[in-house]
Amino acid sequence: MGSLVPAGQARSGNAPRYAVIIVLDGARAGYLHRVPMPHLQALEHRGIMYTSAFTGQELANTPPSHATIGSGQFPKHDGVEGFLWEDPRTHRVDDPTQSWNVIAGRLEAVIADHGRPTLAGQIKKAHPDATVASVAAHKCYASDAMGGPRADYILCSLIYKNRWVAQAIGKHRPPPGAINNARWDVPIPPPSSGFGPAVQQWRMGKENGWTTDYALWAFKRVHYPRVMMINLSETDVLGHFAPNATIIPGLMRQFDYLLGKIEDAYRAAGILDRTDFIITADHGMSKIHAHVPYHVMSQAVAQAGATPVYIEHDTAVAIGLREGNKSRAVAENVLRLGGKGVDATFYKVQERGVWAYQLAASQPGLPTAFLAACGTLANTMASASGPDVFVVLAPNVSTRNFKAHGYQWVAGHLGPQWGDQHIPLVIAGPGVKQGVRSSYPARLVDIAPTVEHLLGAPTGRVDGVVLSDALTHPSEVMAAAQQRRGNQLRPLQAALKARARMP
Ligand SMILES: [Zn+2]
Repeated sequence: MGSLVPAGQARSGNAPRYAVIIVLDGARAGYLHRVPMPHLQALEHRGIMYTSAFTGQELANTPPSHATIGSGQFPKHDGVEGFLWEDPRTHRVDDPTQSWNVIAGRLEAVIADHGRPTLAGQIKKAHPDATVASVAAHKCYASDAMGGPRADYILCSLIYKNRWVAQAIGKHRPPPGAINNARWDVPIPPPSSGFGPAVQQWRMGKENGWTTDYALWAFKRVHYPRVMMINLSETDVLGHFAPNATIIPGLMRQFDYLLGKIEDAYRAAGILDRTDFIITADHGMSKIHAHVPYHVMSQAVAQAGATPVYIEHDTAVAIGLREGNKSRAVAENVLRLGGKGVDATFYKVQERGVWAYQLAASQPGLPTAFLAACGTLANTMASASGPDVFVVLAPNVSTRNFKAHGYQWVAGHLGPQWGDQHIPLVIAGPGVKQGVRSSYPARLVDIAPTVEHLLGAPTGRVDGVVLSDALTHPSEVMAAAQQRRGNQLRPLQAALKARARMP
């Protein structure tokens, strides 16, 4: 290695390492193999592919998952519990993921207040001169949650006067020239002008292309952040509404082109062979075959004499209640009123200062291992601000039944079912084994410690493990830790997969 190292920078053995983390929002693991993707396949060949990677936590949606990718912490430890949650002191809804709240720094303040280490912080601890950039387009909450309070550059886009306009978040420096630069303005196409404009206010492919171009522009502008995190959101938004089977293959073909473009930029900068690539998703996506009506949830709350603070819902349901002591009654009502579409309901309890979810009710005939797996995943969000009631719907069942400009919501995610949980994960680059397929049940919490290790940074207190089976030179201690974790997670994962195969 080192042939591409720019003159003067080469120092034997300790030339700076870089990482690119690309999150294909809401991408199912199978998306990576639907069309020829030469750039991705080349990464797979010179890296490791995790065939059983999963979100491994709740709620399985964008803000918590991105906070976890950027921290190695469960939602209960970094505080990002969903799109919204309940302030346990005021019993009011807290909505820090709303765009203007993100811009005002309220989302990352939650992460900072929880005081746990983040990937950006650990990289800076080891390399004080290193910078970290996190980039999204319309999902400002994704780039902000993933970059966290210590990232240098957090970028996204916002609608301003009928255009998408480049944004930089909060107290983070924008790269010079990012703001008020008309080059990044994109007019919003009329919703009648096609599927993309109707459901995401961008033409199909335009948002992912814009995000990549903005990231690479920033990459050059600030002379090479040590870690570049990118959220590509279209797999999620278009996947929720996809009216036919051509949408996702088209997006994946374009993603492969964008990946090639990113590699070209790193090659031109002379650092490609010192860069580790991590390609993953924040959560999966389940096709919706049946619905449980949303009013079941409000009825269940009302019949218990409780007041909802918020209800976040899709293929699972998270309910915040003003009266926490009524959560068990609400959870029991949901199963009774919801019928076969509800697998199980949980309610939150606190015992000796520790929050946890307990099973309230479940469909007869479901394996106890599956119910235990749901409880384990729910406990990753068990905190004072986690939902009071957590509803696990049956596979491929959702409470969301609506259309956007004529397009039906046809797929969803949020819960512990395998379709929501299973994600792609490919890691390739210096320090990573080549041509390996691993069935290890890797989770989102493992990404930050693994990247920290690859970049020579210390791993702080995290909920994940270093994926030592990815490493060319794993230590015995690390390998043993991963093995122990695998022994815990394999039965959990087997229970989720078994539930997906039940009629
Ligand atoms: Zn989604």
